[in-house]
Amino acid sequence: MVRLAKLGEFGLIDLLNKNMLYDPEKVIAGIGDDAAVLKPPGTKWQLLTTDMMMENIHFRLDWSQYYQVGYKALAVNISDVAAMGGYPSHAVVSVGIPEETRVEDIEELYRGLKEMACRFKVNLVGGDTVKSPGPLVINIALMGEVEEGRAVFRSGAKPGDLIYTTGFLGTSAAGLYILSHNGDYPVELKEKVIRSHLLPEPRVAAARILSELEGVTALDDNSDGLAAELREICRASSAGCLIREKSLPVLPEVEQLACLTGRNTLDWIMDGGEDYELLFTLRPERQEYIENALGKEGILYKAIGIITHSSEGMVLEKEDGAKETILLQGYSHF
Ligand code: ADP
Ligand code: MG
Repeated sequence: MVRLAKLGEFGLIDLLNKNMLYDPEKVIAGIGDDAAVLKPPGTKWQLLTTDMMMENIHFRLDWSQYYQVGYKALAVNISDVAAMGGYPSHAVVSVGIPEETRVEDIEELYRGLKEMACRFKVNLVGGDTVKSPGPLVINIALMGEVEEGRAVFRSGAKPGDLIYTTGFLGTSAAGLYILSHNGDYPVELKEKVIRSHLLPEPRVAAARILSELEGVTALDDNSDGLAAELREICRASSAGCLIREKSLPVLPEVEQLACLTGRNTLDWIMDGGEDYELLFTLRPERQEYIENALGKEGILYKAIGIITHSSEGMVLEKEDGAKETILLQGYSHF
């Protein structure tokens, strides 16, 4: 076992600085100078986003491995770039590391990071390394690219537009519940939900198709739970929404775990977040065309509701037909 103190900051950077470029043609100079030098992406628009992950707030080292922390830290940033309709290009990675951390653990963190970077052709072109007196912190700033005019904003939804999600909802929240509560749950039920929480999949392929299709009016990635993401789209678009509970896509494993734990799948869906599925809206006259295009590419999607006028607020139609206001109960840092 090697302690960080022995290796030092520069020793650590040298150790990690291998296989950092997955699309080297875009890089003139990567790690090792005062700043990375990048080729401009022609006529494309550039995207820039950042997301921080803090130990004991975003992850717990007693139930996630360093590999998973690194993987997820980049995945959530890639998801934000995808949610604009683009694809990722370059990242800088800043880490605050507690002194007693083993070098092997940071190597594992970078193994996860590089796995994600490799899959989505992200160049790791720099960062910063500091000692943390408390928790492990990892912050990534990620650049992306999108063709001129092809970015999809949260603000484009209009009353009458249909609301869709990709994939399934509440899966990651179910995984977090299982990780954070002791209990003997069947492996075949918990495997998928825990994986979804620890190793989320950014929906770049689906987002790229959506951003190409005429009639897609708003796009967002589901990081904070359906209620929070609906509010973001409704607020940016000055609109309301009606969501049908019976249309919400939930994995059978999640239904069964909700049953076993006495929890409510609707709470997991609305307030849980971290599903990193895409929430999007489309013009009703383009429904058939867009559904066909997604279906052809094997992308799972589900219509879950409709955009309404802002005066109608955010409404959930329950399975029995009763209507209630969608309230925000998701995580808030302050
Ligand atoms: P400077 O003092 O100029 O900011 P540093 O000594 O902090 O440079 O870093 C040296 C090089 O290593 C820089 O290119 C920087 O971007 C890179 N770097 C530092 N920490 C990390 C890290 N955790 N991950 C990736 N690259 C890093
Ligand atoms: Mg520095």
